[in-house]
Amino acid sequence: MTQANAPATPRSTLVVTAHAGDFVWRAGGAIALAAARGEKVTVACLTFGERGESAKAWREGRQLAEIKALRREEAERAAAALGAEVRFFDAGDYPLVATAELTDQLVAVYRETQPDVVLTHPTEDPYNGDHPAANRMALEARILAQAIGYPGEGDIIGAPPVFFFEPHQPEMSGFKPEVLLDITEVWDTKRKAMECLGAQQHLWAYYTDLAVRRGVQLKRNAGPNLGLAHTTMAEAYMRPFPQIAKELA
Ligand SMILES: [Zn+2]
Repeated sequence: MTQANAPATPRSTLVVTAHAGDFVWRAGGAIALAAARGEKVTVACLTFGERGESAKAWREGRQLAEIKALRREEAERAAAALGAEVRFFDAGDYPLVATAELTDQLVAVYRETQPDVVLTHPTEDPYNGDHPAANRMALEARILAQAIGYPGEGDIIGAPPVFFFEPHQPEMSGFKPEVLLDITEVWDTKRKAMECLGAQQHLWAYYTDLAVRRGVQLKRNAGPNLGLAHTTMAEAYMRPFPQIAKELA
């Protein structure tokens, strides 16, 4: 096969999350959109959220191993619904501790997946220390994966743009929408993925309402000329690094 007709490598998105449900609530729309375009999406899920985000299962009297298995199964079904591959690191939550070993495992994922886009938690979350820990390791691993002198398998990576997805308490976590992503066309897919997460059923309505509210803000910022649907749904993101441009648009 010649270079000219060789299939192009599909764009790659890497999502680094602390717990099993995070990628669904906060970035399920972005993931479904990328997958719908034929792109590759890999979720690096550092823990199952077995202690901190599985209260319903604990109240039902389940044991730790059973809860981890339950959350894994839920997250696998949600990822499949969105069109993503999920990898579990089982690093233990509450607390998730940032370590050199875990960061090194993430470097290997960066180098293997060669992401064009990286999604992760914002830097702050005063309600949940696992989220900033995941953020620190995601950003640190991105830097290490760029360094030719850092040992490990695979080629070094470029400088994929990073997007912070929305935390559960945005105002208290210093979160301000800088990018509003229109997820209307994949909303049904995101909702189906959310409904895979029975252990956190109390969040289904909340994250539906949030998508409506961010959709209203998207329409206000887009203006009337784009003819956006009345029911526009959206997700909000922050950009910790400058956007690169040759033209302001
Ligand atoms: Zn979480």
